[in-house]
Amino acid sequence: ASKDKGCNYNFFTEELSAVIGERHYLESHLAEALDKHEMSVHYQPMICVKTQRVLGAEALIRWNNPILGAVAPDRFINLAEQNGQILALGNFVLRTAMEQARHWRKSFGNDFFIAVNISPVQLRDDNLVSRIAQLLAYYQLPGSALELEITEGVLLQDEKKVAKSLAGLQKLGVSISLDDFGTGYSSLSYLQKYSFDTLKIDRSFITNLMECDQDKELARAIIAMAKKLNLQVVAEGVETPEQHQFIVEEGCDFGQGYLYGKPVPATMFSAQYLSRLVI
Ligand code: C2E
Ligand code: CA
Ligand code: CA
Ligand code: CA
Repeated sequence: ASKDKGCNYNFFTEELSAVIGERHYLESHLAEALDKHEMSVHYQPMICVKTQRVLGAEALIRWNNPILGAVAPDRFINLAEQNGQILALGNFVLRTAMEQARHWRKSFGNDFFIAVNISPVQLRDDNLVSRIAQLLAYYQLPGSALELEITEGVLLQDEKKVAKSLAGLQKLGVSISLDDFGTGYSSLSYLQKYSFDTLKIDRSFITNLMECDQDKELARAIIAMAKKLNLQVVAEGVETPEQHQFIVEEGCDFGQGYLYGKPVPATMFSAQYLSRLVI
């Protein structure tokens, strides 16, 4: 038995050192990634359900490293949040996306908006509101051109500070969206504590809608609740026409997902979605 334990122990240390090795490797490359122009932003269309027009886009960061290849955000965002690099990355995404929004508002129309994910680390930064105000002025955008998507349990820390930042952003006309709603990270208690403009139903509720009556009822209840609270509702992860039909019938305001389009570079986004209906 003790021999077996030894084996397991070796197994775990190897696994562990692999994890630590990867972490270290990612971390050191991440520090240089912006300077080396390895970061970019992709855009996924957000469809206005009523008009079936592309009315917005979610900006999603992409990291392409010559050795590591494409590194998914799920692999490096947490790391960047822990070591503070998320502030520089977050600014890069904001600047890139807002510059893009300025161009797209000329072609898609003046109600076009860009949605940017904001880490709780950025939200706790005292300068966030003034930086956003500066960026809006610099890119000559009204606040309504920007939506900030927020998630994560850390929202519950520094409640007063967070509430003050959110109110400051909303005063600029910026919309605040509660991302991944219904998951452990984004719960009802946020709706009670903070004022949001938009609620984004987590993909996990949409995925099995048609196969699972319980998920269907949950999605229905979330949409109904959001409407009672006067929040805009976005359904994410819409992959099939049946799921689209469901969100139309239930009265979601926006749909997002592979059915309408995957995240793509800005040039492809323009080529695919300018001046035509998606569905
Ligand atoms: P998220 O904010 O929930 O973004 C939606 C994710 O779902 C994206 O993954 C998107 O590509 C994917 N997705 C969209 N439609 C579908 C669909 O129909 N089916 C499926 N299976 N997936 C779909 P991505 O780009 O890998 O991003 C993962 C997460 O990383 C994001 O989740 C967000 O939490 C974080 N993230 C991405 N970019 C940024 C950023 O610039 N800043 C911060 N702080 N976080 C970011
Ligand atoms: Ca998001
Ligand atoms: Ca989400
Ligand atoms: Ca997510």
